[in-house]
Amino acid sequence: MNRGAFLDRDGVINRKLPEGQYVTRWEEMQFLPGVARAIASLKRAGFRVIVVSNQRCVAKGLLSLRDLDLIHQRMLAELAAAEAVIDEVYCCPHEKHPPCGCRKPEPGMLLSAAQAHEIDLAASWMIGDSDSDVEAGKNAGCKTARILDSGEVASGTADLFAGSLFEAVQEILRAES
Ligand SMILES: [Mg+2]
Ligand SMILES: [Zn+2]
Repeated sequence: MNRGAFLDRDGVINRKLPEGQYVTRWEEMQFLPGVARAIASLKRAGFRVIVVSNQRCVAKGLLSLRDLDLIHQRMLAELAAAEAVIDEVYCCPHEKHPPCGCRKPEPGMLLSAAQAHEIDLAASWMIGDSDSDVEAGKNAGCKTARILDSGEVASGTADLFAGSLFEAVQEILRAES
């Protein structure tokens, strides 16, 4: 069985756009500092790195699944060039209603990835910048790390709080080595 690191996308890998705005073009995908190094260290430590992202911009008709996929192919290629290999990207393209099983805080994407990549969920981490990421991680039986915005105070039930993916990964690897 493998350990998994489930990463939210917006606000974890790339800069989050203002509330209600979505990354619909590659030019809007700005990597946050230290992301490639963080993912590369997870890979070196043997984690399967899986992105799990709610993208209801697809349901809203702002972006096609194909264009979303093209953005992700390019994201994966640029990160892989820095030895930061992401094993797979899962997206929920649905609206909040009617409810689906994949939109976080539902654990559907994590459960599918766990099956496909033989991941031991209890030995795995969900890392995200919103409470629904933490809930999804807990619903899947994972440990959870919450990334805080600058100035945001740690609250809630995550196992770990950090200022960035890079910091979160450092703490996880320190705790588990
Ligand atoms: Mg996010
Ligand atoms: Zn869904």
